[in-house]
Amino acid sequence: MEKEMIRTEKLRVIGELSASFAHEIRNPLTTIRGFIQLMDVKENATDFEKRYYSVILQEIDRINGIVGDLMDIAKPNGDNQYVLSNLNNLISDITLLYDGQESMNNIKIIKKLDTQIPSFFTYTSKLKQVFINMIKNAFEAMPDGGSITIATKFVEQDNAVEIAFTDTGIGMDEETLATINKPFFTTKETGTGLGLPMCYMIIEDLGGSINVSSKVGEGTTFVVKLMIAEDSNTSQNGNIKTVGL
Ligand code: ADP
Ligand code: MG
Repeated sequence: MEKEMIRTEKLRVIGELSASFAHEIRNPLTTIRGFIQLMDVKENATDFEKRYYSVILQEIDRINGIVGDLMDIAKPNGDNQYVLSNLNNLISDITLLYDGQESMNNIKIIKKLDTQIPSFFTYTSKLKQVFINMIKNAFEAMPDGGSITIATKFVEQDNAVEIAFTDTGIGMDEETLATINKPFFTTKETGTGLGLPMCYMIIEDLGGSINVSSKVGEGTTFVVKLMIAEDSNTSQNGNIKTVGL
């Protein structure tokens, strides 16, 4: 438990620092990138040189990716509002974003939304960040296509809701499963290893939990469980407007 706290705290510090450094890092990188590109297209550049330029560009893009992910973690409080949220609406709004990508990647998103889910106050844009990350990882786990099932469930006895993301992707072995929430752990060539640590941090902050089960070659399920605080459940009042995004 103590270890968990240290990990979360570490990530928070990384996030806060990066918010102020991100621009400072990105500006010179943009300049470097521009010059390398110029050298790359130069007429008398040899194949030998071009090979190195492309590696340099890739690595610059990787740094940009990491900086971008760190900025996501450190998103300012401005878009971190505590609002009345309906998770089914939120999921529907998010999946809309993937309409085009679905057919392109031969992936089907299946929604199984529990209509019994009550609306409750929460940090909706933070949850959106988590859900988008889950979907992104699922897409990346299915290079040859497949399906993502997103199921919501009201767990009445715990006054909690569960959102399960199940993909039919490559799955994970035990070793990977044990490491996925460590910052910078990635099995992807262009991964940053920051997506899941961010998800864990956000959900832990909200007093929830994430459970994962996976089988190599079969797929993976992430279950996000959120407790509905007693005073945040206003679903009895049908007139209150719910916010999707
Ligand atoms: P990244 O996506 O940049 O690699 P994440 O923190 O999002 O970083 O994920 C860490 C690692 O967890 C991934 O590199 C991958 O090995 C594993 N992983 C996460 N989600 C899935 C999934 N749905 N299916 C298989 N592996 C996954
Ligand atoms: Mg990821």
